[in-house]
Amino acid sequence: GWVNFISFLNQIIDRFEMTKEKYVYFKRLLPKESVYVEIDEDKLTQVIDNIISNALKYSPEGGTITFRVKLLDDHIEVSISDQGIGIPKDNLNKVFERFYRVDRARTRQLGGTGLGLAIAKEIIGVHGGDIWAKSQEGKGTTIIFTLPYDPVQEDDWL
Ligand code: ATP
Ligand code: MG
Repeated sequence: GWVNFISFLNQIIDRFEMTKEKYVYFKRLLPKESVYVEIDEDKLTQVIDNIISNALKYSPEGGTITFRVKLLDDHIEVSISDQGIGIPKDNLNKVFERFYRVDRARTRQLGGTGLGLAIAKEIIGVHGGDIWAKSQEGKGTTIIFTLPYDPVQEDDWL
């Protein structure tokens, strides 16, 4: 259904804020106004949960995870950045494949099946959006996804 994406996202971040077991700071760079999008809330929750879990898993103690939402012409761009170990350039697209994990050492230490981002890609695709990763090894990772958005329709809500 139709939801204000900003309060929807804030609620998910709040839940992680309350349960996180690492000292990681959450920085929210979000629009002040409402941004209505039509989404399957359960499915989008699954997507965002996985991205935040990954970011926490690979973040150092004391790191910052930054959440941004940008309003563009016909879509919104949501990005979640961490200051963790990063992903090698050659693997940036592969992390969206089923069961792909960057290396075995990470698998052994940090668990997981390698499905989270593959599922995220499928869900975002069904919503008419896109998802991709940017990363610098040793510096951090940003996962970005888009969702269709109609800024004109936003005026009708006023
Ligand atoms: P699951 O999500 O199924 O529990 P997973 O987290 O290993 O397992 P994905 O979420 O699909 O699987 O991520 C795939 C791989 O991409 C991870 O195993 C990890 O190697 C790499 N990766 C994902 N997010 C990050 C991140 N923020 N920083 C560094 N590496 C990452
Ligand atoms: Mg995961």
